[in-house]
Amino acid sequence: MNQALKQARKAYEHTEVPVGAVVVDSHGVIIARAYNQVEKKQSQTAHAELLAIQKASKKLHNWRLSDCWLYVTLEPCEMCFALACLSRVKGIIFGADSPLFGYRLDKKDTGRLYKIGTCEIEVISGVQASQAAGLLKDFFKKKRKKGRDEAHKKNKGPSSRKKTRTRK
Ligand SMILES: [Zn+2]
Repeated sequence: MNQALKQARKAYEHTEVPVGAVVVDSHGVIIARAYNQVEKKQSQTAHAELLAIQKASKKLHNWRLSDCWLYVTLEPCEMCFALACLSRVKGIIFGADSPLFGYRLDKKDTGRLYKIGTCEIEVISGVQASQAAGLLKDFFKKKRKKGRDEAHKKNKGPSSRKKTRTRK
């Protein structure tokens, strides 16, 4: 999880929502690392988990990540959770809960084992959750402050208009 947190910090540095993920093989070796790149790629699917799973599949030349584990700093969304199932990962270990987009929102708590169709996936939650959540809180706090500062600048009148960025 430390390595996933490291990826989350990278996302933070790139002003992306700080979420990081790694895929670990059956020997416990990290085979892929990734961080959220939704802004950079302007893609709503560029989540850390998805990028890490794609990298892992490429590395193994196999889309079946049967004995692999996915570590991610935030509870995966439904898309990433489904992808992990489709990729046949053995399990997911995540940090902070995601009360907005987490996959568990519409699911009954089934304990550690989730089933989707014939896929079974083990889930362990809350691992180093406070660190992952702290990073997210800090990020959104800064973002809100930046938003307020920009709104404040805009309201200052014509002299600040020059600073307004032109749209691409
Ligand atoms: Zn996701």
